[in-house]
Amino acid sequence: MTFTLQLPASSVSHYVQQFFDRLIAKNPGENEFHQAVKEVVETLVPCLERHPEFISNMILERLTEPDRIFQFRVTWQDDKGAIQVNKGYRVEFNNAIGPYKGGLRFHPTVNLGILKFLGFEQILKNSLTTVPMGGAKGGTDFDPKGKSDWEVMRFCQGFMKELYRHIGQNIDVPAGDIGVGGREIGYLFGEYKKLTHSWEGVLTGKGLAWGGSLIRPEATGYGATYFAEEMLNTRGDSLKGKICAVSGSGNVAQYTIEKVNQLGGKVITLSDSNGTILDKDGIQGDKWAFIMDLKNNRRGRIQEYADKFKCEYFEGMRPWFVKCDVAFPSATQNEINKEDAQMLVDHGCFVVSEGANMPSTPDAVEIFIKNKVLYGPGKAANAGGVATSGLEMAQNACFSNWTSAEVDTRLHNIMKNIHKTCVETAKEYGDPGNYVLGANIGGFLKVATSMLDQGLV
Ligand code: NDP
Repeated sequence: MTFTLQLPASSVSHYVQQFFDRLIAKNPGENEFHQAVKEVVETLVPCLERHPEFISNMILERLTEPDRIFQFRVTWQDDKGAIQVNKGYRVEFNNAIGPYKGGLRFHPTVNLGILKFLGFEQILKNSLTTVPMGGAKGGTDFDPKGKSDWEVMRFCQGFMKELYRHIGQNIDVPAGDIGVGGREIGYLFGEYKKLTHSWEGVLTGKGLAWGGSLIRPEATGYGATYFAEEMLNTRGDSLKGKICAVSGSGNVAQYTIEKVNQLGGKVITLSDSNGTILDKDGIQGDKWAFIMDLKNNRRGRIQEYADKFKCEYFEGMRPWFVKCDVAFPSATQNEINKEDAQMLVDHGCFVVSEGANMPSTPDAVEIFIKNKVLYGPGKAANAGGVATSGLEMAQNACFSNWTSAEVDTRLHNIMKNIHKTCVETAKEYGDPGNYVLGANIGGFLKVATSMLDQGLV
């Protein structure tokens, strides 16, 4: 049952502005959360004009207030026997369309504002995948960098000692994000099992031998690459022969390189929080294998690549000064600012596919849109990771394992469908080619309608 206010179109923008002012006042200091919400609600105006019931039923207000947030202390012992204390969080944001789902981030910059931005984005992203998953995010200010495997294990066990009581295969299913890969998921899963006496698909990104899915490690990078290819196809073009700049050198970056190479493009940059390497000959074959070993086993710095393969290294810089056709920001939020965006455009970049979450600042996005760059926002372009997590959950639920080809085909189809949703929705709401608007309204409609159907909860 809903009640509807008939708002004239002109008052919707005013309502959105007032809503946003209230959100800032209610959530002071959470800058990334404000940024993520603003970017979404600004584009929702034409949708709210058509659906005033979303306004009268306070859908924006409900959607931007997490269902619940857990914050807890994690106490653990380092290798020297000293006691360490970190903050742990889980933000269960919205489960209108499925169990809470979203990654865990282990990084010293983690705070509630960042996790709320990520959790909010996750609601719409998960909706776009068409796999039934709600939105959540969690993490800690623990920094895995420089820690031994034993220290990481003890931390993960301490983290799960609190988290386990809030999650479950039909309740909330965390996964990896920055600083959380296969090693961390293993330790977290082991502790969950021990504490609950239950083997269940409570985490995704698991090892293949214990319930993981083929192609899950590859999925975010592959998905962002498929999305770029789809965008290029709209102009009768493809990745073949394209020069690509990738940032980061973690999970998403690694598999973006692999897929770009497979599709005939050339990746010339990679970075980490210390600097950027530029390899004009392209990163492939042995060089790609070197990165995989460097970052996943030896856990070293990207500069070692430049030392080994005698290419240029730029200390303290991000890759956006290079000449490229396609950019794949795959490190972290706000890593492309206005000046970076302008440099990319000036140097001929005409496609941006976001592997990272919210890597472009609002004025960078404005530059991309103004210059007709094919700009795929993170919640659409990087949705392949969580979509494949959904496929991992499906395999766990029916105790089966699909082949690589089967999972990859499903992932590819999901990315094509997300692209189609963005394109069709943008057209339907009067701004063809605007993937930001298409992704936001496309993701929002299903969640908003589901919330209305389910009444006041
Ligand atoms: P990883 O931890 O595997 O890699 C992160 C990479 O980004 C590292 O090279 C890291 O460098 C760099 N980085 C992290 N923070 C910063 C920073 N503040 N400044 C500069 N460089 C930084 O993470 P992922 O590859 O999994 O995630 C990368 C991005 O993709 C994140 O935005 C994440 O939210 C997003 N994402 C990931 C998904 C997944 O499935 N993994 C799914 C969807 C989105 P260093 O090692 O020096 O810190």
